[in-house]
Amino acid sequence: MNDLARRRVDLLGVPVDAVTMAEALHWALEQLPTGETNLIFTPNPEIVYRAWHDPVFYQALTSADLLVPDGIGVVWAAARLGQPVPERVPGYDLMIHLLAALARRHGRVFFLGARPEVVQAAAQVASRRWPGLVVTGYHHGYFQPGQEEQAVLQKIRAAAPDLLLVALGAGKQEEWLAFHRAELQVPLAIAVGGSFDVLAGITQRAPTWMQRLHLEWLYRLLRQPSRWRRMLALPRFAWTIIKAGAKR
Ligand code: UDP
Repeated sequence: MNDLARRRVDLLGVPVDAVTMAEALHWALEQLPTGETNLIFTPNPEIVYRAWHDPVFYQALTSADLLVPDGIGVVWAAARLGQPVPERVPGYDLMIHLLAALARRHGRVFFLGARPEVVQAAAQVASRRWPGLVVTGYHHGYFQPGQEEQAVLQKIRAAAPDLLLVALGAGKQEEWLAFHRAELQVPLAIAVGGSFDVLAGITQRAPTWMQRLHLEWLYRLLRQPSRWRRMLALPRFAWTIIKAGAKR
């Protein structure tokens, strides 16, 4: 990645790479031949706010090699703090672009996370949608630490994917990837949150007009009102950014 694309901004101490979708994709594909494991995380306001007051999560999050600005809240905050990022790079879209690019080179992918029927459906949808893609395996995200987890790690290593998609929910997936990085033996892993549910058609993304108006968060709240408590992080994040901006 060139210097411009490598520029990192600082959001409440959390580094975020000032990259476009095209640059993130380019960087990701460049890592595929490497032997070591590269991690991509996709911080949104909820994630940045959590890292701001949870040191364990902060350590995990900032261990990533690429942190893309997932969502308009992060784009807004970066601009507000005088360090703009070029555009939002939603994790779901990055995953789709990665799968399409991987399919063109007959690359291998492993799906880890979500409920058993969801991960199976997501893997099947991906195989159908991108015939060149080699789905080397999948496993649900409700395994126990210890023996079961070791078996999952072994399954991933044996499948030898180029790309590991991890959907264990925000927080858990970043900590899991940071903790197990050395045991994975995959060149590239990305934390993708609820993306398998979307790919499998279980949950829908906001309609395009709502995405254009940057109202994806409202759509999510309307569909899953139980998230309201979690979503309190959004105004708290905004307020913390405004205060940080005023102090500059
Ligand atoms: N999930 C999982 N294992 C867990 C918790 C969650 O595999 O222990 C999956 C869940 O089934 C869903 C995804 O993680 O497919 C995202 O969950 P959620 O919407 O709670 O997380 P978000 O990414 O929105 O925080």
